[in-house]
Amino acid sequence: MFRFENIQNKKILKSDLIKNAHAFFTTRDLFLLSKEEKQPQAVEENRKVICDYFNIPLENLITPEQTHSCNIDIAQKGKSYPNTDGLILTDPNLAIFLNFADCTPLIFYDEKQNIGAVSHAGWRGTEQKIGVLTIEKLVNDFNSKLEDIKILIGPAICKNCYNVQDDVFKKLKNTVKDFATLYEIKNNQIFVDLKNINKQQFIEIGIPSENIDVCNFCTCCDNDLFFSYRNENKTAKRHNAVLKLL
Ligand SMILES: [Zn+2]
Repeated sequence: MFRFENIQNKKILKSDLIKNAHAFFTTRDLFLLSKEEKQPQAVEENRKVICDYFNIPLENLITPEQTHSCNIDIAQKGKSYPNTDGLILTDPNLAIFLNFADCTPLIFYDEKQNIGAVSHAGWRGTEQKIGVLTIEKLVNDFNSKLEDIKILIGPAICKNCYNVQDDVFKKLKNTVKDFATLYEIKNNQIFVDLKNINKQQFIEIGIPSENIDVCNFCTCCDNDLFFSYRNENKTAKRHNAVLKLL
């Protein structure tokens, strides 16, 4: 179950599923990145709000340069992350965030190991199964067990809003065994459910469905709350998926 909370009167979206870590999605109130050449002042202010909330210095707040790749790295202080769309977090002194405007944000948390990750799954990331690759890294490199991994699937463009071309449809269809409920054809246009394609990928590798919370908010339908690249003429602003361990 998702619900809104506030940090300094700025809305964030949290889920009951993850209790022992800070795991949430920001809204338009608290965007942490803009793709403009120079970050607007609001970004600096918002990053400070987050760092104050976590009680960490600004340099401990880490974000990668996302390129719709399936590259996943481990968050370390002072390191830069060009061409990276998944970050694993093992250090409670750091916080990580990734950036979104329609693509699907994925937050992972393993309470037993107290580690987690954030990944960026647009259609390219979903096609390359970046979420599944993130889970495999947690399992293979950090001894997580599938049944211990909790996953939040955050605000992203919904099945009513996300129409795709035939080639993208076919690529996404091939990522899961059971695709029947994950698309719809209306007026000869194909619509896909990016959030639940990711969920289905996770279920098919053995994540229990009760470990996955899918957010109902759509970046397009709920454009007053979140940024939408499609609905806002390629907006530069990004809301975020944020993770900090306790
Ligand atoms: Zn929608």
